Amino acid sequence: MTMSKSMKGQRVVVLGGAGFVGSHLCERLLDDGAAGVVAVDNYITGAEANVAHLRGRAGFELVKQDITEGLSVDGPVHYVFNMASPASPIDYAKLPLETMRVGSVGTENGLKLAEARGAVFLQASTSEVYGDPHVHPQREDYWGNVNPIGPRACYDEAKRYAEALTMVYARSYGVRTRIVRIFNTYGPRMRLNDGRVVPAFVGQALRGEDFTVFGEGTQTRSFCYVRDLVDGLVRLALSDVIEPVNIGNPREMTMLEFAEAVRAAAGGGGRIVHKPLPKDDPKQRQPDITRARQLLGWEPRVPLEEGLRETIAWFRSVAGRGPTP
Ligand code: NAD
Ligand code: UDP
Repeated sequence: MTMSKSMKGQRVVVLGGAGFVGSHLCERLLDDGAAGVVAVDNYITGAEANVAHLRGRAGFELVKQDITEGLSVDGPVHYVFNMASPASPIDYAKLPLETMRVGSVGTENGLKLAEARGAVFLQASTSEVYGDPHVHPQREDYWGNVNPIGPRACYDEAKRYAEALTMVYARSYGVRTRIVRIFNTYGPRMRLNDGRVVPAFVGQALRGEDFTVFGEGTQTRSFCYVRDLVDGLVRLALSDVIEPVNIGNPREMTMLEFAEAVRAAAGGGGRIVHKPLPKDDPKQRQPDITRARQLLGWEPRVPLEEGLRETIAWFRSVAGRGPTP
């Protein structure tokens, strides 16, 4: 099968399509003229509401399926994006076996679907494969510093296994695979209570509460707006790059600085209160995006201030509609 230059006319399966990132990806694919977008989700950390606005659009289908129990999609399939996995530290701590199974069995079911239909398979991996990194910023050729038996291991090791499995299907079974290592991404449709720092601080700012900074707050992260991420996912899928590619925003800041950025964007929020630092919380994280720049012509466009404004506006609008998701 030949490569397409755009998603126009393509039929695309998005595993985890009712999640935060998955729902934005489905929307972008429809906007790009995909002939069909099949979102497959069991709603374990996502929700039908995330794609409710897409239900009337031509070619959009939503299928409730646990991809660890099987994956059946009728008709032609040109691309499979595997976004399915609990992603926030609180979610995967609550759902450790589900996380390991979706990363292993679920990923293999996605790969088998791609193999059977001659589709391109894109695996959503994570900056967590670098663990608490000793190399900074993180380049794709760094193998990482992951605690294999710690509280994050169910997620980190499932994702590392998923990368290894994806490469096996590429090398031994000829599947056209892509691996994206996603760094902290934020935007509308994150769950206010998913425990990640962006919804946590935004929720606190909007309620006029104190910011809960874990540890000293000197640990760093680099935040990418979801529209930029989705653009990187589509570019990677359309490329012929088999090696993993980091997609993230290189602007790095401490959690203390991030609390101040949220305070400025939301115009609210109280004092900083310190809470215990979770075990194995990475001390620093910043993507080296040289590969994405050179091979995909991709770089982030949305400044933090603008992305935060859009995210805060969305959280305000859902808060107005009653209980927050
Ligand atoms: P999310 O929890 O909002 O989305 C994940 C979706 O997968 C949910 O809708 C969930 O219901 C679905 N899912 C989980 N297990 C499933 C199963 N067995 N069968 C069918 N559906 C299942 O999380 P997100 O932030 O949108 O993350 C999407 C992907 O991107 C994940 O694979 C995550 O590991 C990866 N990622 C995200 C970030 C980030 O900052 N958002 C960073 C690194 C990697
Ligand atoms: N964090 C925090 N306060 C919170 C939630 C998170 O200080 O209420 C910190 C957390 O310890 C980590 C960073 O923010 O250092 C990012 O956490 P998140 O859970 O968003 O993602 P991670 O990158 O750790 O997977």
